[in-house]
Amino acid sequence: MRMSKMLIPTLREVPAEAEINSHKLMLRAGLMRRIASGVYAYLPLGFRTFKKIEQIIREEMDRENAQELVMSALIPAESYKETGRWDIFGPEMFRLKDRGNRDFCLGPTHEEIFTQTVKSGVKSYKNLPMTLYQIQTKYRDERRPRFGVMRCREFVMKDAYSFDKDEAGLDESYQAMYRAYSKIFDRCKLDYTVVEADSGAMGGSGSQEFMVKSEIGEAQIAYCESCGYAANDEKAECLEPVFNNDKELLSMEEVKTPNVKTIEQLCEFFNCEATNFAKTLIYKADDVIIAAIVRGDRELNETKLQNYLGCNELEMADDETVYKVTNAKVGFAGPIGLSIKIVADLEVKGMVNFITGANNTGYHYNNVNIDRDTKNLEFVDIRTITLGDHCPKCKNEISIARGIEVGHIFKLGDKYTKALDCTYLDQNGRSQTMLMGCYGIGVGRTMASIIEQNNDESGIIWPMAVTPYQVIIIPINISNEIQASMAEQLYNSLQDEGIEVLFDDRKERPGVKFNDAELIGIPLRITVGKKASEGIVEYKIRKTGDMDEIDIKKVIARVKSDILAY
Ligand code: ATP
Ligand code: MG
Repeated sequence: MRMSKMLIPTLREVPAEAEINSHKLMLRAGLMRRIASGVYAYLPLGFRTFKKIEQIIREEMDRENAQELVMSALIPAESYKETGRWDIFGPEMFRLKDRGNRDFCLGPTHEEIFTQTVKSGVKSYKNLPMTLYQIQTKYRDERRPRFGVMRCREFVMKDAYSFDKDEAGLDESYQAMYRAYSKIFDRCKLDYTVVEADSGAMGGSGSQEFMVKSEIGEAQIAYCESCGYAANDEKAECLEPVFNNDKELLSMEEVKTPNVKTIEQLCEFFNCEATNFAKTLIYKADDVIIAAIVRGDRELNETKLQNYLGCNELEMADDETVYKVTNAKVGFAGPIGLSIKIVADLEVKGMVNFITGANNTGYHYNNVNIDRDTKNLEFVDIRTITLGDHCPKCKNEISIARGIEVGHIFKLGDKYTKALDCTYLDQNGRSQTMLMGCYGIGVGRTMASIIEQNNDESGIIWPMAVTPYQVIIIPINISNEIQASMAEQLYNSLQDEGIEVLFDDRKERPGVKFNDAELIGIPLRITVGKKASEGIVEYKIRKTGDMDEIDIKKVIARVKSDILAY
């Protein structure tokens, strides 16, 4: 492609909206443009890489006998109403009405539609197992779209759904997707880890996430250097601590603490550590109000709490509700005298002489002790794992890292097939419910993650497999006839060999062209300059910065071997 004909709006300045490297570089290199918050257009260079990633995904899915099709993005409400997800999705779902006032949405994920399709098309055990997939646009009105295409509101996902006769079949289909995903992310040259993920209160017997290790990742991973255990922090189990309480139990007292509400304020007031407090949080679990308690320095894990309670929705109670159940303003809740269900973290069991709210505005209790002062606490692991915790498998110290979730594989079991009555006839002519798995990869998020892991101060460093072009040819002076004709010939010969070439035939200064070539990250650069008259060109490798001069006759062979070796 001739650059003089292309839309590559590179930018010198870093756009203010971009916080992370991949977002900055995708805008600076002219790969994409923002249309609205969380909505992006892919420009020609970006779209080429995007299509290559799609193609890698397609090849590896096909290799595992998954079949591609494409569903609609515009979906009638009924499908989601049957499974209850029309309500569960809440404000994240983009909803609209047609001219007949019928409800529709823009699909956020397609379990229902695939299940209905298989239900009507597959009747017998002879047609199972079956895995179907699509590479299609999804719509989610995310609370906080950010980081460019990492978390946006319109994005392309490869979503696959497997249908099986039984658990053993589901296990095989799931493993096939695990293999496909590993190959896909290997081919994209991503450094990733597979972690155990939460599979929810309702169903599902297994779930793993493919995480790209990165400082800017929104997910936290807990992993063990000794035994290889890895899980995301929603899932990672905290072990019950060993308690050795030989402290004398002091008598409980009510202390006046006007305007002292936050843990920091309390630490200052009582002149002690956050570990001396048990913080009580009031939640609304579906329609039931409950209390949850964790140590003052700990983070409550809402996924664990929700799984324990088995509720569909979990949210912090509003101020009014807190007042109603605790008789006090927010900031003064505690377990003593509360008549609602109280779930306390395992660790709280071992706390002695601790401080809690007194369910009385402006008061706390000091020297509270479990059993002696509290009643009916249910002790469960409901906090988020952190540094200092131990591996739930081998008990060695746990490490914490951040990651970007690029893919997710999930055993759904009969969650959707049961709700939508998706059955098959077994060998004995009996009707059985199919078992299902679902498997997602974000194409744009994968692209951004590749850039996040492959860049330097000059720009992107594309892996060969996903680069928009493999080679860039830069004539130093396009008005010089020898240079122009050598560059032109080289451009043609490389194309004849099936190599993807970008030809910088713009009338720009060499410095501008070099900077752009580095910024857009093309792996191999060939510069045709003064030595063209001697049949010599300059050859540079983006990844290593290695540069040498080579005979024009040897260029094609060199390019071919570098493409293979890159
Ligand atoms: P997250 O926890 O990051 O919101 P999710 O659990 O909602 O992800 P899934 O529903 O499992 O994600 O979607 C499958 C894949 O789709 C994810 O692994 C990710 O690569 C991609 N994806 C999900 N949400 C977005 C988004 N808002 N923007 C871009 N890609 C996304
Ligand atoms: Mg999400």
